[in-house]
Parts: sequence; structure tokens; C-alpha cells
Amino acid sequence: MDLKTFIRDIPDFPKKGIMFKDITPLLKSPEAFRSVIDIWAERYSKVGLDAVVAMESRGFIFAAPLALRLGIPFIPVRKPGKLPYRTIKETYELEYGTDSLEIHEDALAPGARVLLLDDVLATGGTAAAVSRLVERVGGKVVEAAFLMELSFLHGREKLKTTPVNSIIQY
Ligand code: AMP
Repeated sequence: MDLKTFIRDIPDFPKKGIMFKDITPLLKSPEAFRSVIDIWAERYSKVGLDAVVAMESRGFIFAAPLALRLGIPFIPVRKPGKLPYRTIKETYELEYGTDSLEIHEDALAPGARVLLLDDVLATGGTAAAVSRLVERVGGKVVEAAFLMELSFLHGREKLKTTPVNSIIQY
């Protein structure tokens, strides 16, 4: 199945100059959606993962069914003020200004082997911040997986030593 045909390019969204990668056509196709989860389940079922960590909100869409399939916890990372229990926070640079993400301080068991998951790897700032959160709560990121990688933005470099895998590259 050519998964690229299920990704719709939306120019100048949410602002001028951004080519937004719209996953809703893929989500509308149970066959395409399932094949994404199948690819990851195949890749990650035998690497001894303890949790899938994903950032809101599009990361959640993929991480929840994958975690269920793998039979391991799904751990949400959210924008500040959304998680109800005690949290820790990481702030990261955006093109203009900064943004922050939070994780529950008891989200992971010590030494937990974690898969980090999101829909798009762009500049890598978001994934690098999530990776720091995982480490601060005692986990280790075994791999960072993305449905799509915008290779021309070199997001992998921000993830330094963390292995990166993407299903679709642009
Ligand atoms: P970055 O921190 O630059 O790697 O951006 C990653 C986050 O922004 C991910 O959570 C993506 O969902 C979102 N994102 C960045 N660029 C795009 C794009 N061109 N299309 C859709 N989502 C994007």
C-alpha cells in the first residue's frame, strides 16, 4: 500500500510558508490506518519495550492503538496545565518564542525502555523535549518513530544519539 497517497498536503496551514501534512485521509481509511499500526507492531514487538510515549494530540491517535497491540502502557505527554497529577516540564525553542510539554512524574518505571511516537518529525524540537522528559522521569528512549519525516529539516540531528525511524520521508 502506498501510504503517501493517504497524506494530503495543505499549503500555508496553519501559517504562510508551512506545507501541512494532513493525516485525516489516512485515518479515514481503516486499511491504511491499520497498515501503519501493523508496520510498527512488526518492528517493535520483539525489542522489549516497556511503554509508548506520545505527545498530544496527533501522536495520541497512533500511540494508543500501538500500545494496546504491543500490550504495554501508553504514556501521554501534554501541553502545560492539562495533566492532573504532579508533573515535570521541558521548554523548547520554536521559530518564534518557546513552548513547553509536561509528563506525570510517576509515568515510567525506573529504567523503562520507551518508544517515542509522533506523526511528523519536522525540526525535532518537540521530540527532543519529550526525550528529555522521558530521561528525567527515569526512562530510556530506545527509538523515536514517526509516520512522516521532513528530512530537509534535519530533525534527526536534534535527537542526537537516539535512533530514528520513519515510515514516509519527504
Ligand atoms: P518539530 O518540533 O518541528 O519536529 O515539529 C513536530 C510537531 O509539529 C509534531 O507534533 C507535528 O505534528 C507538528 N508538525 C510540524 N510540521 C508539520 C507539518 N508540516 N505538517 C503537520 N504537522 C507538523
